Amino acid sequence: MSAPSNVRRRPRKAAAEESPLALKRRARRINKILAEQYPYAVAELDFRNAFELLVATVLSAQTTDVRVNATTPALFARYPDAKAMSEADEADLQEMIRPTGFFRAKAQSLLALSHRIVDEYDGEVPNKLEDLVTLAGVGRKTANVVLGNAFGVPGITVDTHFGRLARRFGWTNSTDAVKVESDVAALFEPKDWTMLSHRVVFHGRRVCHAKKPACGACPVADLCPSFGEGETDPSKAAKLLKYELAPGREELLERMRAGETRAELRASGFKLDA
Ligand code: SF4
Repeated sequence: MSAPSNVRRRPRKAAAEESPLALKRRARRINKILAEQYPYAVAELDFRNAFELLVATVLSAQTTDVRVNATTPALFARYPDAKAMSEADEADLQEMIRPTGFFRAKAQSLLALSHRIVDEYDGEVPNKLEDLVTLAGVGRKTANVVLGNAFGVPGITVDTHFGRLARRFGWTNSTDAVKVESDVAALFEPKDWTMLSHRVVFHGRRVCHAKKPACGACPVADLCPSFGEGETDPSKAAKLLKYELAPGREELLERMRAGETRAELRASGFKLDA
């Protein structure tokens, strides 16, 4: 990504001076620019069905999606559905998911949620928020990931990146995930919620990092009240970019923009980590 030519020099109006309508318009312009920047944004966890996505999302707590994706192919080959996983030997399950960390607690959650899916939902992952959050290890965030990406139900996924960026954008001033979700939901049409979540998380991972946001290479710098929280010099900021936007990864970026899937890119030898 080249640095934007229109990087803002003057601070935006303080949030208190921005009308609700102006806030909504600005939020939607940010979403539009992020959509252009990340046309390939998807859930970064690999999955083929709702059960796999549910399991992968539970495993993703406190670790990276890359690590989960390296762990799940063997796991799903051995335990392809809730019934098989409910009958898993706990020690074996722990060993298979050990690289994702907190493996004892995660194995317990996977066994308990698999049992419940078999006992209460005929072996199929439920497609309602109120049912999903009754499963072991599944909170609103995981439930929204599954609803949005496996069932096509609009959902906003408030993880650490989403919460941080929503506050930097001035979309919310809350640190409570449920409040962040409702504040942001009020700014967008439900049909946009799932993709918005992916784009914001992509931007958080690649550009708007927790510690050193790359403001000088940020495509929404013009619309962001937090511009200046990070590096504003364009060439220094460009060096902070991660994943496919990192310096030297231009071919990967080009191929992602051309529509190659993550599986195809991996098969071509590209590493998709930071
Ligand atoms: S990188 Fe800087 S300008 Fe861009 S969204 Fe983050 S804080 Fe705002």
